[in-house]
Amino acid sequence: MDFSITAEMELLGKVAKKLAENFPPEYWRKHDKEHKFAQEFWDALSESGFTGVVIPEEYGGSGMGLTELVHIIYNLCKHGAGLAGVWYLMLSEIFVSLPIARYGTPEQKEKYLPKLAVGEFEGCMALTEPEAGTNTMRIRTLAVKEGDEYVINGNKIFISGIDRADVMVLVTRTTPLEEAKKRTYGFTLFLVDLPNSSVSFTPIEKHGINYSNTCEVLIKDLRLGEENILGPKDYGWYVLLDILNPERIGFAMGAIGTAELAINKAVEYSKGRRVFQDPIGSYQALQHPLAEAYASLNGAKLLTYKAAWLYDTLHKPPEDVKDGEGIRKKSYEYKEVGDYANMAKAVAVENAIRAIYWAMQVYGGYGYTLDMDVERWWREINLLRLAPITQQMALNYIASNILGMPKSYR
Ligand SMILES: Cc1cc2nc3c(=O)[nH]c(=O)nc-3n(C[C@H](O)[C@H](O)[C@H](O)COP(=O)(O)OP(=O)(O)OC[C@H]3O[C@@H](n4cnc5c(N)ncnc54)[C@H](O)[C@@H]3O)c2cc1C
Repeated sequence: MDFSITAEMELLGKVAKKLAENFPPEYWRKHDKEHKFAQEFWDALSESGFTGVVIPEEYGGSGMGLTELVHIIYNLCKHGAGLAGVWYLMLSEIFVSLPIARYGTPEQKEKYLPKLAVGEFEGCMALTEPEAGTNTMRIRTLAVKEGDEYVINGNKIFISGIDRADVMVLVTRTTPLEEAKKRTYGFTLFLVDLPNSSVSFTPIEKHGINYSNTCEVLIKDLRLGEENILGPKDYGWYVLLDILNPERIGFAMGAIGTAELAINKAVEYSKGRRVFQDPIGSYQALQHPLAEAYASLNGAKLLTYKAAWLYDTLHKPPEDVKDGEGIRKKSYEYKEVGDYANMAKAVAVENAIRAIYWAMQVYGGYGYTLDMDVERWWREINLLRLAPITQQMALNYIASNILGMPKSYR
């Protein structure tokens, strides 16, 4: 067992730290307040090559894995960017570049990856629907074959970054749930070029990460060809898992980095603030909860690195399988990756919430003001209770899929 970080990762961490320090918390405060996209930061990410970490070198990326990407995410968050700073890396790199690199056809890779690698293209992913959030099986966005084309209709909600995205991974059903031989059968993912006159969206006012828009989406008679399908038709569930698991791993690391940022700032403040004779940082009532959260976050960090490493290590390309309708491409699901992704997400977010709650307490009334960044990190971390998977569903996964307890829902 080797816990050391490679020289390459160490260097990536240093570059990420330096980059993040150039955009201090005030930068994020301003953009959040003004609802303004952080263009300079996105440009800096692209210039550093961070928008192409998981993209193969032949397509202009660095050809590294999720492990390196989460190491960068951790360092960006921890050194000033918080969760907001890595939001578009999640939307573009994890939602779109990663699945194209793994499942795309040579034509799809050629078309999208070089532009995604340099940040010229941004991406988004549309899965959630008004009647299908936690219960993904119930999505109703339907792609119906008409001649050589698929005609797609449906409603999506909470789609982040669609207002800026050049390409969207759209999750549909090509076989409705009622007709599917298995609940997970019938999912097909499409790559959609944006903007598109058949795809309209309306931003939803929200609690945090306000420099970015999250939207309700209407898809009306969108026509796409076979060449737009990402991965195997009807077996897209496994491709989707290969997006949702790294999403959980990426956000787990984002939570840890942001919580460490909040802890570090609170510790600094606590050393200077005197209410009675000694600085408030000398009181154990404030020390213990921060110390406990910090130790637990370090445990979560190990879980998260392991989850990323499993994701990078266990992947195999889709293989041909035979079913009733002939030979098809089927991709794999790696249970171990799912196990670690869900455990990492649950533990990282629970402890990050605790850490930021106590960091805010350290600031007393000042922590409640918009001048102290801790209130913004509190708003950011609250999102991770609900997305990419709710804490309850991550725990449900652990209870039924790892511990083997009876499933509590149908
Ligand atoms: C700001 C923001 C950005 C987002 N970005 C995207 C995006 O880019 N793309 C995208 O596709 N989606 C996105 N989402 C959607 C997000 O993934 C969903 O909101 C999330 O999956 C939860 O679904 P829901 O909101 O419909 O909650 P519901 O499914 O309605 O759940 C409500 C509550 O019930 C609980 N619950 C439900 N079933 C169970 C059960 N069996 N056991 C215990 N508790 C249960 C849940 O844990 C939750 O607390 C985003 C959401 C937000 C808020």
